[in-house]
Amino acid sequence: MNLRVLKDIDVKNKTVILRTDYNVPVVDSKISSTFRIEASVKTIKYLINNNAKIIILSHRGRPKGERRQEYSLGIIKDELSRLLNEEIHFFNDINESDIKKKISKLPFPSVILFENIRFYPGEKKGNSELAEKIRELGDVYINDGFSVCHRKHMSVYTLPKLFENKCAGYLLQNEVENLYKLTCEPESPYVFIVGGSKVSTKLDVLKNTIKYADTILIGGGLAFTFLKSFGFEIGKSLFESDMVKECDNIFKEAKEKDVNIILPIDVIAAKSIDDSESRIVSRGEMEKDDIGLDIGPMTAEIFKGAIMGAKTIVWNGPMGMFEKEQFAKGTIQIAKFIKEATEKNAFSVVGGGDSVAALNQLGQIDSVSFVSTGGGAMLEMLSGIELPGINVLKEES
Ligand code: ADP
Ligand code: MG
Repeated sequence: MNLRVLKDIDVKNKTVILRTDYNVPVVDSKISSTFRIEASVKTIKYLINNNAKIIILSHRGRPKGERRQEYSLGIIKDELSRLLNEEIHFFNDINESDIKKKISKLPFPSVILFENIRFYPGEKKGNSELAEKIRELGDVYINDGFSVCHRKHMSVYTLPKLFENKCAGYLLQNEVENLYKLTCEPESPYVFIVGGSKVSTKLDVLKNTIKYADTILIGGGLAFTFLKSFGFEIGKSLFESDMVKECDNIFKEAKEKDVNIILPIDVIAAKSIDDSESRIVSRGEMEKDDIGLDIGPMTAEIFKGAIMGAKTIVWNGPMGMFEKEQFAKGTIQIAKFIKEATEKNAFSVVGGGDSVAALNQLGQIDSVSFVSTGGGAMLEMLSGIELPGINVLKEES
């Protein structure tokens, strides 16, 4: 695999630029899942123990290159400080003229957190000017933000190209080692469970998954565009009209490759998302003002059959609007089936911000073989695509 890891490079007394992923879910100004922050602690502690000065770069949300306070990393600073039991120095702007001086004045070891790197338009564009500015601040580059490794962004791709001394942190190393197991001849039957809100965000994943899965179970909001493409009434459920053709293509391709795609046969429907009165409706009987917000019990039984027979299970995307108790049952059941299959020796992997939050909410983070911090990155990696953010760590600069 020839990925350089922490033990391969010297970080003692060095200033380290560390890319992490603090894109955590926030509800009512509170972090609802600290999983990603906790996952970064091991590498940071190792660096502190090596007397390093650590400059952390991360993003949160989609501020689109603008300074938008609702996406500030200030909320991360407090939680990280609590988890590390260390003071965190928060830097508001990379472009401050005396930033280098300010950093050099801090003692070894110190932990510095920069404001959301996506506040700068250059981040997503992979801008080299911005990268060069940050390059000046450190001696070593470490990437521990697995979930952004599929992007050629400045802090993931352009910046590490400028470093000779660079490697993967513990989190990234762990992700690569675990997911690698799935790419070299995973044990069959391989069941892929996909949910979440939109077909458009899962389209590539679905196309890629057809190459290696035996069965694909589709729940969540995206199931409704598929159902509509077969002519079912879906009322006011989530629907993407421009994805209907793509849904057809996916089915055709799956048929050619002998992959079994299973859609919900019943759903939990309500007249509004705040409705406390929901009903079980078979997929042929939805009314024009129904919104489908979870998979139904018969669907869960069918999904159970596939999951319990699997040797390899990958899950991305909740089965319904699990944030609301009345629409969380499908997601809870799927988590339970995966737990049981894992106890019967299936290798199970769960990834995706909301999926992991759901698992956390259920207190079931330990019931799967591996919890990935990556959504898109995990799925791209599983489909055999080489991720630019990982490849760049292997290169000599
Ligand atoms: P992940 O972050 O795990 O990749 P997604 O971001 O794709 O998952 O999707 C999670 C979101 O999908 C959740 O906020 C959930 O409420 C929503 N969702 C799931 N099913 C439905 C549905 N039937 N209708 C509306 N929203 C849904
Ligand atoms: Mg999500």
